[in-house]
Amino acid sequence: MTLAKQNLAFDAQHIWHPYTNLKHPSPVFGVESAEGVYLNLSNGQQVIDGMSSWWSTIHGYNHPVLNEAIQSQIQKMSHVMFGGLTHQPAIDLSQKLIEMTAPELDCVFLADSGSVSVEVALKMALQYWYSLGETNKNKFLTIKNGYHGDTFGAMSVCDPENGMHTMFQGVMPEHIFVSSPTCVNDQDWQDRDIQEFRTSVQANHKNIAAVILEPIVQGTGGMRFYCPEYLRQVRTLCDQYDVLLILDEIATGFGRTGTLFAYEQAQISPDILCVGKALTGGYMSLAATLCTRKIADTVSDFEDGNLMHGPTFMGNPLACAVANASLDILLESDWKSKVQQIETQLIKELTPCKPLTSVSDVRVKGAIGVIELNEPVDMYKVQPRLVELGVWIRPFGKLLYIMPPYIIEEGELTQLTNAMGILAKEL
Ligand SMILES: *Cc1c(COP(=O)(O)O)cnc(C)c1O
Repeated sequence: MTLAKQNLAFDAQHIWHPYTNLKHPSPVFGVESAEGVYLNLSNGQQVIDGMSSWWSTIHGYNHPVLNEAIQSQIQKMSHVMFGGLTHQPAIDLSQKLIEMTAPELDCVFLADSGSVSVEVALKMALQYWYSLGETNKNKFLTIKNGYHGDTFGAMSVCDPENGMHTMFQGVMPEHIFVSSPTCVNDQDWQDRDIQEFRTSVQANHKNIAAVILEPIVQGTGGMRFYCPEYLRQVRTLCDQYDVLLILDEIATGFGRTGTLFAYEQAQISPDILCVGKALTGGYMSLAATLCTRKIADTVSDFEDGNLMHGPTFMGNPLACAVANASLDILLESDWKSKVQQIETQLIKELTPCKPLTSVSDVRVKGAIGVIELNEPVDMYKVQPRLVELGVWIRPFGKLLYIMPPYIIEEGELTQLTNAMGILAKEL
């Protein structure tokens, strides 16, 4: 059975897809199944997935080990409330996360999506200062071009221009923004690269609970890369001015930028860390917020000491079981050389697009390849064209980019970069 035309028509009329207009929906393709790096579309076409379903399916689709992990957990229990109950999958997962992240990170909150893990991180920081009687420390400082999710708290620290701040003005809390970093290599670092950030911390630290940012790679807010020295400077200033540092590694975590976590490239560690997306190998929605013992103790020592969050599907056993299997696959694989190989190939195959008249920049970091165009693409035209070229790539605005599954083979990656080149030439 494949999706019939009338089903696609129903979809177009009734179902919202991410950031879409229900009156003028952009083209939507049915998917029947997926295997490895391939999506099998309802129209009979097979396309290579360049998106890893938004950073998540790092081991590819329909992975036998991940399937088995879910199947064996489902026989025991699919879900159980986490209030007053616990289980092995959640304990194993928390142990793994504590072990694989910085030694300072010692306590785990299992959230049900990336946005929720950001909400929890923001609450942890606010409750930390509240517990210390510092009730004026209730603002967040962040950099422009960030993306942290779609719920109100997360949205309030997203880029103020492309982050819907105008539409929700007055409803959304207002925080402090500085320009996003521009220095890409540590060798080019100059003190002025941190000046605006430093001035803002100096001026506002009495009101700042935490700095929140995506380390090294700003994802959905612009696919921008910046140098580790910026993060080191941020860490130093946070310590100096008594401000917590929240790192959002929901996109960058689990090897994507070439290190297990992007913050490792700066030899620093955060006070609070958000992970998600690739955590379950793209099988289910799950995220986590980790924090230091000091934050957990401070929150816990004040009044009733409760961290004020607790979603219904917190610590879902199926999601934890598949996350455990996914992390095992990752850590037992040679992900580091694989990401490096992808990086080398992306540099080689995308750099020739730089001189094209439609292209303003080509950049690569780890297993992420970006062609920035001079003009935003027309999705009504571009999406079907990419499918025609045999690839699943979903550009947004001026950004034509891929972050393929780590299991992609050389020839498959070439098909992706070829399609990007062909499209860039046609634009
Ligand atoms: C995707 C993303 C989020 C939000 O995660 P959801 O699971 O979509 O809620 C937050 N931060 C970053 C950096 C992301 O890439």
